Amino acid sequence: MENLVPQAKNPHRILLGPGPSMVDPRVLKVLSEQPIGHLDPELLKVMNEIQILLRLVFETKNELTLAVPGTGSAAMETAIVNSIQPNDPVLIGVVGYFGNRMAEMAKIHGADVTILQKPWGEIILPAEVAAALKKKPARIVGIVQAETSTGVLQPTKEIADIVHQQEGILIVDSVTSLGGVPVQVDKNEIDICYSCSQKCLGCPSGLSPISFGPRAVHIVESRAKPVASWYLDIQRLMKYWGPEHIYHHTASSTLVYALHESLRIIQEQGLSERITWHFQNAKILWKGLEEIGLSLFVPEQYRLPSLTTVRIPQNVDDASIRKQLLEKYNIEISGGLGELKGMIWRIGLMGYSSRMENIQLLLSAFKELLKR
Ligand SMILES: *Cc1c(COP(=O)(O)O)cnc(C)c1O
Repeated sequence: MENLVPQAKNPHRILLGPGPSMVDPRVLKVLSEQPIGHLDPELLKVMNEIQILLRLVFETKNELTLAVPGTGSAAMETAIVNSIQPNDPVLIGVVGYFGNRMAEMAKIHGADVTILQKPWGEIILPAEVAAALKKKPARIVGIVQAETSTGVLQPTKEIADIVHQQEGILIVDSVTSLGGVPVQVDKNEIDICYSCSQKCLGCPSGLSPISFGPRAVHIVESRAKPVASWYLDIQRLMKYWGPEHIYHHTASSTLVYALHESLRIIQEQGLSERITWHFQNAKILWKGLEEIGLSLFVPEQYRLPSLTTVRIPQNVDDASIRKQLLEKYNIEISGGLGELKGMIWRIGLMGYSSRMENIQLLLSAFKELLKR
């Protein structure tokens, strides 16, 4: 190349979209340190503490709790590939984009998938799961607790009870809830629960928490066929994370330390206090948006605090508003996905992004831009 490439410039956005979210300065500091070896005793100690802290955030005693290398989708695939064998009957509740992704993954891994489909923006009712299972029993049921494409919070406990009555297991996607909305794996009897690092946990993407309860461990241990993924095999991953510490992959110590620090911050704040301020900040945002004359997409009863969906007013250009937010105010929000494209905006208040100054800035930017 003729000319030297200049250093890449980070625009330092205010991240108020569906993820990634902003990162506490304490986590940023940790990210700037030299890497260490993936079997360094100091790193293994940090990983062990991550497991303890993850049990605290998931609110579980599950031994099999760790962070999968990769983003939330890697954790989703870990849940699917370890529990499903070819031709297994599987039921997936689909009320948004991420339910569809789960169903797609289950199909790719050879499951006999039934989709319990409802319009985007609704929740799946326990009775609907019961009816679907009566029509066609399934060993594995998957639902999304926090559907980031619609802004809906899906209740999970009663669905877990129905699934367990039929001796099945329930997989719950908590990618946009863990650390910002109650997940409570043990209390809600979730069998496999997974998340990511870059939403409510307030860490960059790249490591994704997952937890397997006793019923799920039993399914994994009694498989007839080997897990159809070497990298995402939960038992191999556990041999690295657990006391044996057998080399599996070169873990990014940078991300391990970052996740450790972000979980330490949650422990210091207190999980329930953190959940409360996520909710309180969301309520301030909701009120502010309504005062500007915007209408919210999801009824308050099922509204997700970590991600708010707003109807785009008629005669307002979706792309142009988002472009101006980014260029003039340095704020990132997101448009609708799939069938909601052009109909809604998606505003995230997750982790370190969920702060009063960000809410005020966004509301005043909206006021300015929508006036014209
Ligand atoms: C973001 C998200 C995912 C996917 O996570 P990636 O980190 O983008 O791979 C899965 N499920 C839900 C509900 C999400 O919001």
